[in-house]
Amino acid sequence: MTQSVAFIGLGAMGYRMAAHLPKYFEKVYVWNRNFDKAKQHATEYGTLAVELTEAVQADVIFSCLPTSDDVETLIDNVNIKSGAIWIDCTSGVPEAARRLAERLKTQNIDFLDAPVSGQTIGAENATLTVMVGGDVNAFECAYPAMAAIGKLIQHVGDSGAGFAVKAINNMLLAVNLWSVAEGFSTLKAHGVNLDAALNCINASSGKSMVTETIFPQRVLSREFPVTFALPLLAKDTGIALDLVHEAKLPAPILALTQSLIQAANLTAEPNSDFSSAVKMYEAWTKIILK
Ligand code: NDP
Repeated sequence: MTQSVAFIGLGAMGYRMAAHLPKYFEKVYVWNRNFDKAKQHATEYGTLAVELTEAVQADVIFSCLPTSDDVETLIDNVNIKSGAIWIDCTSGVPEAARRLAERLKTQNIDFLDAPVSGQTIGAENATLTVMVGGDVNAFECAYPAMAAIGKLIQHVGDSGAGFAVKAINNMLLAVNLWSVAEGFSTLKAHGVNLDAALNCINASSGKSMVTETIFPQRVLSREFPVTFALPLLAKDTGIALDLVHEAKLPAPILALTQSLIQAANLTAEPNSDFSSAVKMYEAWTKIILK
């Protein structure tokens, strides 16, 4: 039975995800590199801000860091409790998940790759989708902890499968974001009112999450709120394209989208939201999407 839970990495996602755990678990440890955030979390939500060495003594340990490299480096430098389950909510690299799962198994520790989707609002409302790769028994044991932060908790296969699903999901988001920018620029060039067009498309077959929320709330509003950083999306499309290459498949749309997102990331202002990728297209066309 899970006695204690820890959350490592209180960033845009982690801070909000960890906030739900005290509703279900008596002891919830939090740790963050900038430790003031952990102390702030403890004050706000009744969690316990502890040193990393103590956090990794919990029965269930969540991590949500930018990359798999960050997680591997962190794991390299700690002694995790034997029998613990590590739930990595980072959008990571499938190969790293396989490596970590294999290595930790020798220490009687289960590693689940459990990336999430649903943005910061989903983290806040505990409505995230959690896509999980790894041992099924560990998945079942860790299910209550994951259910505290998410709505759909889906086991998708062996180690690495969760990270793979997440990378392809975010590639599809990127494809959609870019194609909606092209489509709406074309409509604007033809003098069409974009809000009216959006109303029609959101009641038609071309609708998507991008047309339903991203475009109205971030692009057409010109707000581009920084909740999911563009470099993180560029990382995810990179992981997805590596998967395509490993499978030796042709994927011209995905390859092109990866190049576009990389270029947008290189040319964007520092600290840009992923939706700012459309600004590169606006610079080419001189059409501002508003
Ligand atoms: P943030 O940049 O907001 O937060 C990153 C967190 O990781 C911070 O707590 C940071 O600590 C910590 N961190 C960074 N590098 C290290 C390191 N080397 N060692 C230890 N801690 C480190 O990222 P997000 O919360 O936005 O994203 C986290 C993960 O979730 C990413 O993989 C992202 O792709 C994914 N994701 C993000 C979503 C979003 O909408 N933002 C949605 C779904 C998935 P410190 O405070 O000290 O800098």
